[in-house]
Amino acid sequence: MNKAALVIDLEFWHTSEFLREYVPRDYNDMVLDATIPILNLLDKNKTKATFAIVGQLAEKYPDLVRTIYNKGHEVASHCYSHRMLNDLGVNKFEDEIKRSVEILSAITGEQPIGFRAPSFSVTQPTSWVFKILKKYNFKYDASIFPIKTILYGVSNAPLIPYKPNPDNILLNEVNADIIEFPATVMNFVGKLMPISGGFYFRIFPLWFIKYALRRVILQRPIIFYIHPWDLYVDVPRINLHFLPKIITYYGLKYAMKKFELLLNEFNFRPIKEVLFLSD
Ligand SMILES: [Zn+2]
Repeated sequence: MNKAALVIDLEFWHTSEFLREYVPRDYNDMVLDATIPILNLLDKNKTKATFAIVGQLAEKYPDLVRTIYNKGHEVASHCYSHRMLNDLGVNKFEDEIKRSVEILSAITGEQPIGFRAPSFSVTQPTSWVFKILKKYNFKYDASIFPIKTILYGVSNAPLIPYKPNPDNILLNEVNADIIEFPATVMNFVGKLMPISGGFYFRIFPLWFIKYALRRVILQRPIIFYIHPWDLYVDVPRINLHFLPKIITYYGLKYAMKKFELLLNEFNFRPIKEVLFLSD
């Protein structure tokens, strides 16, 4: 069954909300060093994924984006600058998404149909995003995190793919245009728990992640996300406060091996295939 989607968020490691203010922009971006091993691993496992790519990164590394596309992975938009939608506002967001579509389409020759907001920043106050995604011919969004966290999230959002009503994104609107694939969470003794990627993947043991995903996939499709810098042991060490330090560096040493083992367990596919949007 095509029920497990894999998305790699391809962005500069220093544009994470926790690091943005600390790191100079001319820092080593490690994009190729961190991304090529992932592409090789996916080849080895015959796995195709969705790469949600930041426009600025695609501008700097068009050959990498072309390689990703030519290998048969899906290329989706991760906006242009990786700023959160609430920071951008409607007009700047539209400028960014337009630019992102132009850049990705020029490289691949194909219009992206998938969007993934930086830092899961699709929430009720930014629900205008759906109208703009429709205008630029997107078919799905994978940006709602159905647990409220310190940085992002929407409490009580649906857990299964649905069509958000832009006036109230908690509601399914059959006639809406954009499909939402919410981040995968697990119901654990009556509480929802994030489990399916990024920092959560690094902090929990692999047996627990596998157990959790196996349990959830019995009920609904799952989506697992990772950034190349989640799997790259040499992410430059900078002096951070306790929480950003844990979130940035915890578990890096074993993350690539864990990821390889996880790939063997699930038949991951690009998001567009799991949502039956492939042509
Ligand atoms: Zn991102």
